[in-house]
Amino acid sequence: MAKEKILIVEDEEDIRELVKYNLEREGYTSLTAVETGEEALTAVKNSPPDLILLDLMLPGIDGLTVCRKLKSNDNTAHIPIIMVTAKSEEADVVVGLEMGAEDYIVKPFSTKVMLARVRSVLRRHSQEEELSPGDVIRRNNLVITPGKREVRLDNQMLDLTFTEFEILLLLARRPGWVYTRNQIVNEVKGSDYPVTERAIDVQIVGLRKKLGVYGGKIETIRGVGYRFNNEN
Ligand code: CA
Repeated sequence: MAKEKILIVEDEEDIRELVKYNLEREGYTSLTAVETGEEALTAVKNSPPDLILLDLMLPGIDGLTVCRKLKSNDNTAHIPIIMVTAKSEEADVVVGLEMGAEDYIVKPFSTKVMLARVRSVLRRHSQEEELSPGDVIRRNNLVITPGKREVRLDNQMLDLTFTEFEILLLLARRPGWVYTRNQIVNEVKGSDYPVTERAIDVQIVGLRKKLGVYGGKIETIRGVGYRFNNEN
């Protein structure tokens, strides 16, 4: 039995019940389901969950406002949030990710996808490691040694620029995690030249080329940003 507490915030009853039913079937029994942003904030305050599935389009306080309130409060900032959005809400997804939401799913979603995201966010959250000098990141045949600024692919050393290295390290540290261009800019700035969002796209093209057949691991998430997909 999964012990994690999950809070479902969804104003559409059908979807709320379906999500609840499927999570219960999967073994998540500590579930709270609420309909509004106000109720969500109260529920988090009364009993902080391990994960929140947050619909963005809610009556009253909308999902993004809930996300901002939780992520800007030291007591709740650590709680992972998966945003649930409609296809037309891509711009909101970008804003939410930049506020610190962990992931998102787009309606209509399959139960399989929803459960996979829940599992993956909970797993990532319990395994978040800080890098110390000498640490090595292994992703299949790709080996990154941050301390030495070295990347090896199938035992061959890759010749990456400063910025390419920083982007690869950022993405590969958290497989499955979507980063917006703006987040990537903020993480890699202060390097060899001023980095803009457009420059990130150019760097990604160069990086994929150098990674060869492995380049597909760096996935473009249209309208949102990039992620390192270790499962494809
Ligand atoms: Ca809704």
